[in-house]
Amino acid sequence: MKTTFNPRNQSIFPFPAPLLLLACLAAATLPAFPQAPVPDSPAIEAQARALLAKLSTAQKIELIGGVDEMFTHAEPVINLPRLKMSDASVGVRTWGPTTAYAGGVALAASWDPELARRIGESLGKDARARGVNFLLGPGVNIARSPVNGRNFEYLSEDPYLNATLVVPYIEGVQSQGVIATVKHYALNNQEYNRHNVDVSADERTMREIYLPAFEAAVTKGHVDAVMDSYNLVNGSHSTQNDFLNLKLLKGEWGFKGVLMSDWDATYDGVAAVNNGLDLEMPSPRFMNATTLLPALKDGQVKESTLDDKVLRLLRVTLRYQFLDRPQLDLADSTYSLADRPIALQGALESITLLKNEGRILPLDPAKLKTIAVIGPDAWPAVPGGGGSSEATAFAPVSIVAGIANMLGPNVHVLYTRGLPQMNDVFFRTHWDGAVQVATYPSKDFTGTPETANDRLIASYKEEWWGPADKSPRSIRFTASYKAEKAGKYLLLAAASGNDHYKISVDGKQLIEQTQVEGQHPESASIDLADGQTIHVAADYLPGFAGNRFGLGIVNEADMISDDVKKFATAADAVVVSVGFDSSTESEGFDRSFTLPWGQDALIEAVAAANPHTIVTLTGGGGMNVMRWIDKVPALLHTWYSGQEGGTAIAAVLLGKHDPEGKLPVSFDRSWDENPSAKDYYPIPGADTSLHVTENGRPPVDYVIPHVKYEDKLMVGYRYWTTTGKHPLFPFGYGLSYTTFSVSKLEAPSLEQIALLSSNGMPVSFDVTNTGSVAGAEVAQLYVSDPSAKVQRPERELKGFAKVRLAPGETKHVTLNLDARSFSYWDEDTHNWKIDPGKFVILVGDSSESTPLRHELDLR
Ligand code: BGC
Repeated sequence: MKTTFNPRNQSIFPFPAPLLLLACLAAATLPAFPQAPVPDSPAIEAQARALLAKLSTAQKIELIGGVDEMFTHAEPVINLPRLKMSDASVGVRTWGPTTAYAGGVALAASWDPELARRIGESLGKDARARGVNFLLGPGVNIARSPVNGRNFEYLSEDPYLNATLVVPYIEGVQSQGVIATVKHYALNNQEYNRHNVDVSADERTMREIYLPAFEAAVTKGHVDAVMDSYNLVNGSHSTQNDFLNLKLLKGEWGFKGVLMSDWDATYDGVAAVNNGLDLEMPSPRFMNATTLLPALKDGQVKESTLDDKVLRLLRVTLRYQFLDRPQLDLADSTYSLADRPIALQGALESITLLKNEGRILPLDPAKLKTIAVIGPDAWPAVPGGGGSSEATAFAPVSIVAGIANMLGPNVHVLYTRGLPQMNDVFFRTHWDGAVQVATYPSKDFTGTPETANDRLIASYKEEWWGPADKSPRSIRFTASYKAEKAGKYLLLAAASGNDHYKISVDGKQLIEQTQVEGQHPESASIDLADGQTIHVAADYLPGFAGNRFGLGIVNEADMISDDVKKFATAADAVVVSVGFDSSTESEGFDRSFTLPWGQDALIEAVAAANPHTIVTLTGGGGMNVMRWIDKVPALLHTWYSGQEGGTAIAAVLLGKHDPEGKLPVSFDRSWDENPSAKDYYPIPGADTSLHVTENGRPPVDYVIPHVKYEDKLMVGYRYWTTTGKHPLFPFGYGLSYTTFSVSKLEAPSLEQIALLSSNGMPVSFDVTNTGSVAGAEVAQLYVSDPSAKVQRPERELKGFAKVRLAPGETKHVTLNLDARSFSYWDEDTHNWKIDPGKFVILVGDSSESTPLRHELDLR
């Protein structure tokens, strides 16, 4: 007998619900050690000072440098154990496999502070299950540009959204007896040359855009650790930046915890000690006895400055009771079944539906006989991007597995990657005749080269680092290529580490690679006529010993695997899963705004074969979808949705969950139209190659690369709404399978400025689900200040509420605005200021759709 499978009756999880329930209950009832830190008190202070008094100067110095990559220094004299650290963002990643959550930008796409708290708590528990004292997250840098390689670890383009999410996240982590570390302080908004780049921004831009999330983390979330970034800010490295560390963080914001460096982000021991850094990680290369003992002796560094750093470490140690209890909590599971629903919830809440023409989604499982799932991101699962946040999940669910699990055995699932692997392109390129290889004894293609012939330009290995190159070399490859037929061809190149290269075709440069730490493959599209011969030259400058360069050419139509057309034609619907992964979007380098090579052509090929083509994107922000957006009826952004991403994506595609994610970033059409594009890279003329030498210092003749934030406050939607232009999809936007309305906006029409600081000002409105399925809406409140004496962004987010509603249900929402909601940073008085006059309160469902409007006179 054939049974009909109905996914709507099935749990989203592939394992039985009772098992999951038991696991959650067990986790909740096991005895636990004391968790949350105790507040600072005179008793703690006295105890910390008593411990300090037992230490020699040399012992104190030892305590302000890390050991073994991920620990603070132990001090047996006072029974102080070494404190263990782990990277975070998507999971507690440093100590083996773990649960990978929808972290960073995915969490921001949920617009759900309660979810942030639950993920924080789960991360805290996962940390305790590994004996971790310091969790090296959350990251809260603003997504100024979509190409920043670490946006996926951070939150959004908006300071209010970031500040609102980071506070419960930190409270969640720290409630478990684990210190959260907010990072990377500050203005670390690009990976390109991150050690060397000097970011210039005026104070107003910093105060209004780049610092509020850090400020909230300290003043509201009471975070107990902060990590300084690699870059320079207005002329001095963050780790020795008086303004950031002393004036703001420890001065105005009253930060009492530990300020640590990013790993090898300290460049000068005395300057760092005197300008606020408390802990040099991962080892004391600069803040060590060799540097500091003489500096203490000759008065360059005061003993009280050193004491303050040690006291900070001792205070958190005492407040978290690290001397009295084991940090390894056996009541928390290492492989935690209780984590899985939270990871799933995060993924479900973050998936953002951007296009749904003809209401093609949700797919009706009863009408599906065959579904094709195609693309490099369909399998294996892509829980997060690359670099120090890259968590290995125990059992990540890929998109193809998620769909197959949910549809059950009666629906055929066809899978193909659709594109070759990169090395296949290199190894299958038939150059026309021999490749000439000229190896010069210099770094600039001068001198007499050694020459050789080869068949391929291919020795590519994906490596960040390698053995040092003893002799200077530069290599020029030249070759001819003859097109066998007319069409579009893809020129594909890749190298590793800090290799540089330039590629030209018939004398015209098409590709240049100048990233300095890691890099992604580069490609260019060229149109060739039948039988056309082109001359290709590649100037390759290896960063390390050996050659790690690959170059190939492939006809785009031939590049798409034969299965693609067959599967797409045979299927009732096709899901094409494209975007980035840990090799193309990562710490250490910036990613492209275009999709990784070949993916545009893949989508076009699928869309040509099947009109029911749904595209899912993986990535940390916007990307170029213009080549095919009009050819596909549905588009979902899935960010990096953690280990349960495949299940969540299937649930949304098949209508088991109403999509509720909202864009935490504006989604541009092209890289050029992003407001930061023209001054994102260092000012031309500056030397941008890697200049941190063995001892961590730039050479004497080094030219610091400058990046000036000329876009100032006009980041993301602030730019779009102020100029009256429109991105492809605006900040705050996301579709649903139901419909919502907002109504009945109520707020005072006249308000005294003086009252705002004490009482705040309530603004209320109704949100109604006017459709036929249950769903969640994010009602967003923006404030406009048309009578301001200075230029302000046309509108700014100052409140939001995520409201879960049954069909037909209405909920009344009240948001509270305070003085900061109306203020700007006044450059003259160096303070927050409200210009009395007219303000407009706007409420709606994106930065560009605010049907409710209310005028207010502030006096
Ligand atoms: C990253 C930090 C990370 C540290 C430790 C650095 O490369 O920038 O975010 O916490 O490594 O892994």
